[in-house]
Amino acid sequence: MRKIGKVDIVGTPYTIYLYEEGEFKALQDDAKERDERYLQPAKEGSLDGYCDYMSKEIRIYNDSFTDIKYFEMTLRHEISHAFLYEIGNSNYDNEEFVDKLSKWVPQIAYIFQRAEACLKIKKALGDVDA
Ligand SMILES: [Zn+2]
Repeated sequence: MRKIGKVDIVGTPYTIYLYEEGEFKALQDDAKERDERYLQPAKEGSLDGYCDYMSKEIRIYNDSFTDIKYFEMTLRHEISHAFLYEIGNSNYDNEEFVDKLSKWVPQIAYIFQRAEACLKIKKALGDVDA
């Protein structure tokens, strides 16, 4: 297990860890024994990451790191779980919602950036009160 970063999720720090194959399987087995509902696959039939709400840890399986796009998708998915949990949204454990949210957020961020650019242009033209 390797610590690869820390993120602030609405005021709560979460640590991101990268796990090697054997370590991750041990985590899975442990979670199955404890019947942890929050240990959910990032995509059907696989388990490449999970979010531990109690220890405030996001755990990513190292194999997903070989494909950077898939790693990003897994990380965004787990961060979305943590975000919904920390804001008290009841969908924090809803895999379908979490998966959609993790795909919508980059698009929403892009739209906000475009809207901000429009506002700056309007301000520069003097059409909007500062
Ligand atoms: Zn999930």
